[in-house]
Amino acid sequence: MLKIKGIAASSGIAIAKAYRLENPELIIEKKIVVDSQSEMNRLDEALAVSKEELDVIRVHANKELGADKAAIFEAHLLVLNDPELINPVKDKINTENVNAEFALDEVAGMFISMFESMDNEYMRERAADIRDVTKRVLSHLLGVRISNPSTISEEVIIIAEDLTPSDTAQLNRKYALGFTTDIGGRTSHSAIMARSLEIPAVVGTKEVTAKVESGVTVIIDGLDGEVIVDPTEEVIRQYEEKKAQFEEQKREWAKLKNEPTVTKDGHHVELVANIGTPNDVEGVINNGGEGVGLYRTEFLYMGRTNFPTEEEQFEAYKAVLEGLKGKPIVVRTLDIGGDKELPYLDMPHEMNPFLGYRAIRLCLDRKEIFRTQLRALLRSSVYGNLKIMFPMIATLDEFRAAKAVLLEEKDKLVAEGIEVSDSIEVGMMVEIPSSAVIADQFAKEVDFFSVGTNDLIQYTMAADRMNEQVAYLYQPYNPAILRLVKMVIDAANKEGKWAGMCGEMAGDSVAIPLLLGLGLHEFSMSATSILPARSQISKLSKAEMEELAQKALSMSTAEEVVELVNSI
Ligand code: PEP
Ligand code: MG
Repeated sequence: MLKIKGIAASSGIAIAKAYRLENPELIIEKKIVVDSQSEMNRLDEALAVSKEELDVIRVHANKELGADKAAIFEAHLLVLNDPELINPVKDKINTENVNAEFALDEVAGMFISMFESMDNEYMRERAADIRDVTKRVLSHLLGVRISNPSTISEEVIIIAEDLTPSDTAQLNRKYALGFTTDIGGRTSHSAIMARSLEIPAVVGTKEVTAKVESGVTVIIDGLDGEVIVDPTEEVIRQYEEKKAQFEEQKREWAKLKNEPTVTKDGHHVELVANIGTPNDVEGVINNGGEGVGLYRTEFLYMGRTNFPTEEEQFEAYKAVLEGLKGKPIVVRTLDIGGDKELPYLDMPHEMNPFLGYRAIRLCLDRKEIFRTQLRALLRSSVYGNLKIMFPMIATLDEFRAAKAVLLEEKDKLVAEGIEVSDSIEVGMMVEIPSSAVIADQFAKEVDFFSVGTNDLIQYTMAADRMNEQVAYLYQPYNPAILRLVKMVIDAANKEGKWAGMCGEMAGDSVAIPLLLGLGLHEFSMSATSILPARSQISKLSKAEMEELAQKALSMSTAEEVVELVNSI
């Protein structure tokens, strides 16, 4: 038995066999071969196995995840059967006497760069398909194993170095009971997705992939951030007990489900949820959410081979609005870039993706992508209480430009005779220190702010939110962060606007007393944090928390602030 410490990223306990998600780097060497026929045979075999594998995945994905997710694998099968790709590979093996993997890598690489450089979006998508399929065939030629998470059909704990957001999006919570990774922190997107899927997760263990083989029994303790490998019967029993206690605690919290969120001294705040897909709405309602404070629409764009159409987006937004039955929902426009990539969007390689071409910067540059989303949102607005916000706003000019595009699309729709709500609030996320510092200027033009502390902390402290080496600098309670949050809330109040927070800090039990004291109006968090937060707030007094926050603002370190909060 072995205990590995990590970061508790999503609460709960899960016990099952380990399943390693492999994503190895494939190293291709050029070899001159004497027997090209046997290379052709190796290629044919690798193609055949890949086809069989894809067929199983396709059938499985269709059943478990729906036809749209399965379509990607159909596209992959088409590529494998395409003589325009396969024949040149065989020619190359024959005429140049090279090994099959080298020939395939070269030919596929040529097609990929050709398609990627085309103006036609459809052709660019084909590049992503070819890249994926080639990787599969190459892995067979090289005898290296890659994982297919969508084929998992028994209860497992996923073990991975890291999970990309699209890996996570493909997990089926019926079988993936929990996961643990080497890297990542509480605010990495895999952790955020785990909370919305409500599966226990421990991230940032540094060593779990080095220590755990597939098939070994593993316990994920998402409450205390521990992974127990190969536990004894006795330890399994202890954790089953801990799991039962946690379930009991959840039943207690559930009693607050239909209650408003009110402090001891009668002050009301709003507790809303962060969601990633329309499927998450059920979790919001079940966890007593008073609405949605952040719908991360980028997940609509992930795990697929092409951009979602206006119609597909409209259906998703409409489903969320209808599901929430008039409760408010804040939709964030596309926030791609940073750690969130789209295989079909050709993004330049950047030294610092978190400081680069992302979110509103990309949308204002690639306006056709932005306009499609805005039209879908505007059309959906008549189905509920929609608010729209723009991510990563650094300057007022960006906010004005984004809002102008929104208004242009609205005018066009109205001219086409399509009904659009007249009461859509338009706000912005405060994730960049520059916008917090001049929040007073922004407050004159926005309808609301939502503080995105996940990014605001990383940019203020200059500490990558994904990097455990600098995790000690990722300090939500640092007075520098508290002062920035205060600037935003004060600026909103002065102009009669409202300020919320949708970064993970809003659901953090140490931060909640401080945020309450600073006067935050709306707290948006993982759905599973809502009831514990409501219970905590009901025991606090707003007036006392104001004093507490005042003291915290004048402190010099995060440690002092934590000590102060723990003393209440
Ligand atoms: C944030 O930055 O706090 C935020 C909510 O956005 P994301 O975590 O998606 O970057
Ligand atoms: Mg952000």
